[in-house]
Amino acid sequence: MSFATLKLSPLILNAIDDLGYSKPTAIQSKAIPVVLSGKDIIAAAQTGTGKTASFVLPLLQQINTRYKETNQKLRGKRVRALILVPTRELAVQVETSIADYGKYLSIRSMAMYGGVDIDAQKQRLIWGVDIVVATPGRLLDMIHQRALHFDELDMLVLDEADRMLDMGFIDDINKIIERLPEQRQNLLFSATMSEAVRGLAKRTIHKPVEITT
Ligand code: AMP
Repeated sequence: MSFATLKLSPLILNAIDDLGYSKPTAIQSKAIPVVLSGKDIIAAAQTGTGKTASFVLPLLQQINTRYKETNQKLRGKRVRALILVPTRELAVQVETSIADYGKYLSIRSMAMYGGVDIDAQKQRLIWGVDIVVATPGRLLDMIHQRALHFDELDMLVLDEADRMLDMGFIDDINKIIERLPEQRQNLLFSATMSEAVRGLAKRTIHKPVEITT
């Protein structure tokens, strides 16, 4: 299978070409068509399998398509997708991937994590951000400070869900999910599928397609 058969936009395919990827990995071939169809997924995937692109590529495609239908003035003024990750390092890594894969699109993303000045991050939100990649604690602080609006959000990604649960983020995740619109697409990725991960999936995700590699 090639990336071209995955029905991604030429602008995304050009970015993939620049990175020198010759073909999709197993998780990408399985996940991308399902995500593009609008369904929820729960995917068992280890780091190093190309899992980041398996959600970032279709997410960019969905936002780019919907952008064309959006009033210019509202572009970037509301967060369209939220990606929750366990650590600051992963937030930076995922945001870098979004910038790489989305280099020919005008979609704005930011990594949001604790330990740095919150005011600078708030300013970024005021300028406009389409995709937020965040650790749960800092995101919740932002919500409490009313710096974030989720009324236009239509995609939620829980990346490395097992690690987020191991790190004790379950209460924060639940509080964040309560603030999101009910009508949204949900993607969950986890290296392991423990009872705790399945419990989170059951409460969060609607009739998911299960993906394994
Ligand atoms: P991940 O599992 O998302 O952490 O990705 C692991 C590494 O694989 C990253 O450095 C990606 O840039 C790279 N990668 C992702 N997809 C592909 C692909 N289809 N072909 C070659 N490398 C890839």
